[in-house]
Amino acid sequence: MYVNKKKISVTLGMIKVKIIVWGILGSIFLLSLMGSLLDKNIDKYGAGFRISVIVLAAICALFIVLNVLKRIKIMSAYRISNAFENDSDGIMKISEIANSVHMPVPKLEKYLLWLLNNNYLINCRFDERNQSNIILTDVNSAQTNQFVVMECVSCGARIQARPGQGVKCPSCGTFIAPK
Ligand SMILES: [Zn+2]
Repeated sequence: MYVNKKKISVTLGMIKVKIIVWGILGSIFLLSLMGSLLDKNIDKYGAGFRISVIVLAAICALFIVLNVLKRIKIMSAYRISNAFENDSDGIMKISEIANSVHMPVPKLEKYLLWLLNNNYLINCRFDERNQSNIILTDVNSAQTNQFVVMECVSCGARIQARPGQGVKCPSCGTFIAPK
């Protein structure tokens, strides 16, 4: 499991509350704008009043949009995690992930950085030696030893694989039989 389900559900709950609060506030501003336009005594409200409520309603709308965008970003952790689950050797190229989640690489890189820094994605990290790779670690997972380390029979490279699954050596391309 590569998503931090607990943290994600807490954050999504908070986002929901924020969207409701900003929605109620924005509606109040819009209603008072309508009220001022429908009032028989229309001159009672100056242009300043209307501009202020429009600005305030726009600010509320902006906060709603920002929260919706944050929600989309967080939900992408599930799609990324699914791509990780299907991986056999514990190393994923970012371009590979981008393909499977249908996201352009620069956007995915930004999302990955944010999701990892904020702990929405767990048990994986950027490869220190090659920033275009993500290493799946599972160190905090209850399911320990999710990967076995093997040595390539032809070039001797150290490779990771899921138990019982064969894998192609990333260095020389030789197929290594499952352990
Ligand atoms: Zn090899």
